[in-house]
Amino acid sequence: MFTIQNLSASIDDQSILKGVSLEISPGQTHAIMGPNGSGKSTLAHTIMGNGAYQVTQGTITFDGISLEKLPVHQRAKHGIFVSFQQPPAIPGLGVFNLLKEIRQAASNGAIDFGAFEKEIKNYLELLHMDHSFLERSC
Ligand code: ADP
Ligand code: MG
Repeated sequence: MFTIQNLSASIDDQSILKGVSLEISPGQTHAIMGPNGSGKSTLAHTIMGNGAYQVTQGTITFDGISLEKLPVHQRAKHGIFVSFQQPPAIPGLGVFNLLKEIRQAASNGAIDFGAFEKEIKNYLELLHMDHSFLERSC
């Protein structure tokens, strides 16, 4: 369960989010829609813990854990992620190596390489993506 209660956040003392509440049960997908500048990205960055955004009131709870005081990397370890709207390209860094580094960092170093490769290839099948995607530069 992911729950936001009465969340307010500001940027440079300018109030942007004003009392947002939201509840998402396991297995649900929610789409938040609104005009440009209405605060969608601000909400995503505030959930992730981006330091540019200050929580002025409210709570963010994921599976019973209070996220609003945790640093970004600890929120990431609980599975919180904000995808990039304009991802930078890094020539030479392949998708597979990036995913492997992320998994290694999230599991404190030790991963079963073969099992990880199998897992990633299963996801490619599931999403009907070509295996060459793994070699593409991020
Ligand atoms: P959306 O994603 O819904 O288009 P944003 O969250 O990007 O909306 O923006 C919400 C409001 O916060 C806008 O008025 C925007 O100008 C302001 N804002 C967003 N990011 C910043 C920032 N880094 N500094 C100052 N104001 C910002
Ligand atoms: Mg946005």
